[in-house]
Amino acid sequence: MTDATAPQETASPTFPPSSAFVQSAVARPSIYHEASHDRLAFWRSRAMLLSWETPFTEVLDWSDAPFAKWFVGGSLNAAHNCVDRHVLSGHGDQVALLAEYEDGTDARYTYSQVKDEISRMANVLESMGVATGDRVAIYLPMIPEAVFAMLACARIGAPHSVVFGGFSADALRSRIEDAQAKVVITADGQFRRGKALPLKSAVDTALASGADSVDHVLVVRRTGEDVEWTEGRDVWWHEARENASTEHEVVFVDSEHPLFILYTSGTTGKPKGIVHTTGGYLTQAAYTHRNVFDLKPKQDVYWCTADIGWVTGHTYVVYGPMANRTTQVIYEGTPDTPHQGRWWEIVQKYGVSLFYSSPTAIRTAMKWGEEIPAKYDLSSLRVLGSVGEAINPEAWRWYHRVIGQERCPIVDTWWQTETGAIMISPLPGITATKPGSAQVPLPGISADVVGDDGEPVGPGESGYLVLTEPWPSMLRGIWGDDQRFRDTYWSRFEGRYFAGDGAKKDEDGDIWLLGRVDDVMNVSGHRLSTMEIESALVSHEWVAEAAVVGADDETTGQAVVAYCVLKDSRDDDGADLDALVQELRAWVGKEIGPIAKPKYVFIVNELPKTRSGKIMRRLLKDTAEGREVGDTSTLADTSVMDAIARQLRG
Ligand code: ATP
Ligand code: MG
Repeated sequence: MTDATAPQETASPTFPPSSAFVQSAVARPSIYHEASHDRLAFWRSRAMLLSWETPFTEVLDWSDAPFAKWFVGGSLNAAHNCVDRHVLSGHGDQVALLAEYEDGTDARYTYSQVKDEISRMANVLESMGVATGDRVAIYLPMIPEAVFAMLACARIGAPHSVVFGGFSADALRSRIEDAQAKVVITADGQFRRGKALPLKSAVDTALASGADSVDHVLVVRRTGEDVEWTEGRDVWWHEARENASTEHEVVFVDSEHPLFILYTSGTTGKPKGIVHTTGGYLTQAAYTHRNVFDLKPKQDVYWCTADIGWVTGHTYVVYGPMANRTTQVIYEGTPDTPHQGRWWEIVQKYGVSLFYSSPTAIRTAMKWGEEIPAKYDLSSLRVLGSVGEAINPEAWRWYHRVIGQERCPIVDTWWQTETGAIMISPLPGITATKPGSAQVPLPGISADVVGDDGEPVGPGESGYLVLTEPWPSMLRGIWGDDQRFRDTYWSRFEGRYFAGDGAKKDEDGDIWLLGRVDDVMNVSGHRLSTMEIESALVSHEWVAEAAVVGADDETTGQAVVAYCVLKDSRDDDGADLDALVQELRAWVGKEIGPIAKPKYVFIVNELPKTRSGKIMRRLLKDTAEGREVGDTSTLADTSVMDAIARQLRG
């Protein structure tokens, strides 16, 4: 078995920072040069940093495009790579998880302890009849057991399907049924804003109304509340754990064996069950985590605030960081429990050096005011990341100034559930960053912006973002729906992956994400990006967040309608608001041009967001066009749309 532990590979810091997506191979830093010289050799060497049971014989088989096979013939195990090999190489005592609970209590687990826990859980799952290839649903809060559950499945080669703990019984049932899961791993309840909320009861409801494939439910005790119990089906983890051995032999699987199924966030419509496999996914997860965050495994304390229910929690809490032997924080609660400085308190408590979060979180912190983070010592921070939506330049500057204290590079990382790992991002120490731009495809990744005709657009022009070459962590399909896979991603532009996002190339060739293609507006024949108008609004001193939609309009085709949330520090009465609305309209007119001036600006208390924090513009479009709002099943707080409707009427 080849075993390379916690490989170190950082970008060359000596290269003069370049703002450009430099085209000349000579001028590129070594890692870009290496990748462009021989892309497949580059990926081979990244894959070799993992531990393979059987070496692969071919890097990529693309003969059955768009169904890719990476690292053909190789076998490995993801949990072995994320845990066992670190213990075997003498790093068992290194802390893997620093678990912070909502109530301020904490727990820590070394890599050896994680190995014991996941071995126990794998043994329990096997005793329930779970075998290699069987699916397991995971419905847990952000506690260490969630990480153990995923890795226990990986040990057996049983693909997991994590369902976000905030989803309803119905959403859970449909995902269990789609994947035909055999076991569900859940908890009695979860703590949310200081309250114990039930969780297992949703599993009970889901199983009462279908989901017949499930034989057993493994229940973690977290809140201690009473739960209903089905004898023979339900098993307490703490009881099963007592008798479970810490010895478990990992199952080495083919490189293309499915590691997990994950449903997309559902921002634009019905969630898709995205399938990821083992070798390619883990290779790119580890590579991107190491390079984008410039990771130093012994020194850094890393914290990604994403829930394991989203792909970011899969790739940048579990698989990437643990494959790289990272010491990381995981946090159970919300950013404002019990106070609005909670996250910054955690950064201070653990000396977090690498911090990865989302634009929505940053804008919320902006709304609360910079005096809150100012109370904490944030001097340990070294690199800041952002993912989930395009980050408005103003939010980027705030993040850089207030959180990063003008010291930390920001990596704005573009990727999707489908891409499995980061695709477009600056590299710290190499790319001179630009507020609001994800900038350059990572070494090994090929992306472009093309027009309607599929031809690359010129500098300063906008079009559609496409990925022009296969990549190791690419989705291998949509679970059970090959046709939808071809139609959604591969039919728009021949031979290329269509991401569904609009983008612009600037004069330097850097890429700017403009939002979903479906969100692009057409006003009097001009194509306007929602993102650019939102960013203009957020750059106004009183606006914390903005969502823009194009609503049908008899004269202009579409009219720009904006919804704005104001900063907490502004308190005023209704009269001032009317003046502010006019001011904001004029502001956009001045910042972008008269054509972009919103016809209406509505000041609202909150924006409708998915549970992963993304603005759901399609609902605001429904409201702006006076329609009944569409599917709200993935909406975080369903009362938000009612409140907006009331505010608009009032
Ligand atoms: P669905 O596909 O179900 O509608 P979703 O697209 O929100 O949901 P995800 O896979 O979680 O599901 O999100 C990927 C999308 O998020 C990207 O296609 C892009 O629109 C947006 N995104 C993520 N990161 C960035 C970023 N750094 N800059 C701009 N947009 C981003
Ligand atoms: Mg999507």
